[in-house]
Amino acid sequence: MTVVKLDSEGRCRLPAEALEALGVAPGDNLLLEVSDGKVVLSPPPPALVPAPGAGLRSAINLKNLETPVRFIKGVGPKLAELLAKKGITTIEDALYHLPARYEDRRSFRRLAELRPGSVEVFHAEVRSAGAVVSKGGRSLFEVTVADDSGTVVLKWFHCNPRYMKGVWRTGRRGIFTGEIVRYGARLEVHHPEVDWLAEGSDLASVMADDPVNFGRAVPVYPLTEGLQQKALRKVLKEVVDGFTPAVETLLPRAVLERQSLMPLAEALAGVHFPDDGADMELLNRRATNAHRTLAFDEFFFLQLGLALKRRGNSLEEGIPFAITHKYTRLLLKALPFPLTAAQKRVLTEIRQDLAAPHPMHRLVQGDVGSGKTVVALLSALLAVENDCQVAIMAPTELLAEQHYLTIHRYCEELGIPVRLLTAGVKGKERTATLAAIASGEVPIVVGTHAVIQDKVEFSRLGLGIIDEQHRFGVLQRGTMKKKGSNPHILVMTATPIPRTLALTVFGDLSLSVIDELPPGRSPVATRVCFEAQRAQVYQLIRDEVKAGRQAYIVYPLVEESEKSELRAATRMAEQLDAEIFPDLRVGLLHGRLKPEQKEAVMRSFKSGEMDILVATTVIEVGIDVPNATVMVVEHAERFGLSQLHQLRGRVGRGTGRSRCILLAGARLSDEGERRLRVMEETCDGFRIAEADLELRGPGDFLGTRQAGLPDFRVASILRDGRIMEDARQEAFELVERDPLLLGGEHAPLREELMRRWGGRLELAGVA
Ligand code: ADP
Ligand code: MG
Repeated sequence: MTVVKLDSEGRCRLPAEALEALGVAPGDNLLLEVSDGKVVLSPPPPALVPAPGAGLRSAINLKNLETPVRFIKGVGPKLAELLAKKGITTIEDALYHLPARYEDRRSFRRLAELRPGSVEVFHAEVRSAGAVVSKGGRSLFEVTVADDSGTVVLKWFHCNPRYMKGVWRTGRRGIFTGEIVRYGARLEVHHPEVDWLAEGSDLASVMADDPVNFGRAVPVYPLTEGLQQKALRKVLKEVVDGFTPAVETLLPRAVLERQSLMPLAEALAGVHFPDDGADMELLNRRATNAHRTLAFDEFFFLQLGLALKRRGNSLEEGIPFAITHKYTRLLLKALPFPLTAAQKRVLTEIRQDLAAPHPMHRLVQGDVGSGKTVVALLSALLAVENDCQVAIMAPTELLAEQHYLTIHRYCEELGIPVRLLTAGVKGKERTATLAAIASGEVPIVVGTHAVIQDKVEFSRLGLGIIDEQHRFGVLQRGTMKKKGSNPHILVMTATPIPRTLALTVFGDLSLSVIDELPPGRSPVATRVCFEAQRAQVYQLIRDEVKAGRQAYIVYPLVEESEKSELRAATRMAEQLDAEIFPDLRVGLLHGRLKPEQKEAVMRSFKSGEMDILVATTVIEVGIDVPNATVMVVEHAERFGLSQLHQLRGRVGRGTGRSRCILLAGARLSDEGERRLRVMEETCDGFRIAEADLELRGPGDFLGTRQAGLPDFRVASILRDGRIMEDARQEAFELVERDPLLLGGEHAPLREELMRRWGGRLELAGVA
């Protein structure tokens, strides 16, 4: 601590360490705030640096939404810190911190009119209060409050009775809020909120004096420890009153009219402090026009970005392929099966794209086992027929290796060289592979994300295929594109992405769906089992093996890199091998094995030298052994449903009847069990995906942020699917009419679009 002496005119010199701590230098501006009797110095944000001579007031009058909330009246350093914990640092953050629900405090119900089951606000007087012991022996604090129509009992289960006794004095009057519960004839509220009325004050004047908290539909915000509802409401009232007039509506007027939307400022004001006539039910479902307007606004900008991107793609010059049938016809002959109608249809769509003068950007969606690999291979051959190179990228080494083996096998017959490129390909072999790719001597490269790394140069990349795209993000797609000059891009996913999600993450791609499985597949009979049934489960495996089949036992590794987890899987494999199935051949497959080891294990399982394969989720995607007919998943509750569906897709690939046993751990919750039961009911990946999306939310569903799923501040892709469709249509139409957003009303849209989505959608090149 340092004492700073003021000179005769009240000026002082700040010591160097203070300047350093503030991050300012002599000659810079400093912001001085006086709040709650404390003085705070801080460097002002650039937007607030006043023009010479102008005061702070005028800076705030700029109404810049990036102004820190600290500048709001009543927000001191402590409150600012609490707000920051809720992600609120600027005015804009505050405006988009929406109420979680609303309470109707326009008028108070008389006690006789309270409705059990709903959250009510009522005015009453304390009649009696004291600690009591319940029949079950629990001590609690009970208060009876009344008005002239009836009584309600308030209860607290955890509190300090001495303190409560002091607060809940007979005769005190307050406004109470809480959920009404009925016990026989009696109404109760547990842990109510209370606003006390000063002695002698009348309700009408209290309500009139506090128009933020009473006499209206009151917003109830998500809080954090230490942050009070009323304090936050007060901040938001300041923010809404002071700043919404500065919020510009950027959506074109025609769109607003067609969609019956409100100006953005009105919508923001309306969601925080609804009009007197607001419908509580609509408010609480977030279905008011104000809510809809905000959600639309949010979706609109995303879709605008996607529309521009799609258009940008379609304007690029591509490499139109000639269709020669040279290799494809040979491959179709070599395949041991005819293509399904769905595969044929999708291939026709791909062929049309490839023949066009602009690069293809197509997503092929098809449930596990629908036969995407063949579609990829046939597409690759179209490129090879046109003297172009193809890069096929898979999310794991194991899958890359498997694709490599499949593709290599067919291509060998056709005389087309294929190379594998993963992190496991090292040293001389890697150098040789890179050289062969660069010279163009290798037409097909299969690998992991290693194929899009800096070092890899293609001589003439014509097609990039990305398998199981949900594991990759938008960025990988971009990087793949840059490996050639506008190559065609084909992405494939087995995750049946619900439509709204698909429109969000893949909204710039055209979509093909393989909606048919090859004939002869029967659904995988699935059962949830518990520890007590383990012996039966092992017997089942035994029976299948005796019948000449093979089995998977899947062990969850949350973190593949965690040694302890890996040990658990390893130990389990050893135990199964030595004690449970000493007479059978048990193998182990996990992500930490060297590529050669993995390949050796897979090969021996595939060729039937091994009966049981204990594996981690490395087998989740794409492993293909038709003779495997049973899968047991340990600790099934640790997996997402879509992941279980992927896993289960490893069996049921042949024509035999297949089974999947989901072994639940001991601590399975009711909710967890309900979740797993979905797997028993359906093998429809789409329904499972929707259930998963509902249960886990979109972020989790796709696994990672990386998947390119945007965070919405207001909209929910679950709740607001309809709004998304409307916004998409408007955005795409707008880009159709004004592809460069040059119209007078449209220029600000472009700026806002870049601000919100520029980086994340890789829009730099298109807007
Ligand atoms: P996924 O769509 O999950 O990637 P795959 O491409 O791995 O599916 O195909 C699953 C299995 O189905 C493979 O064994 C493949 O050879 C086989 N298959 C693909 N297409 C057909 C078809 N039209 N008829 C019969 N079997 C097919
Ligand atoms: Mg596949």
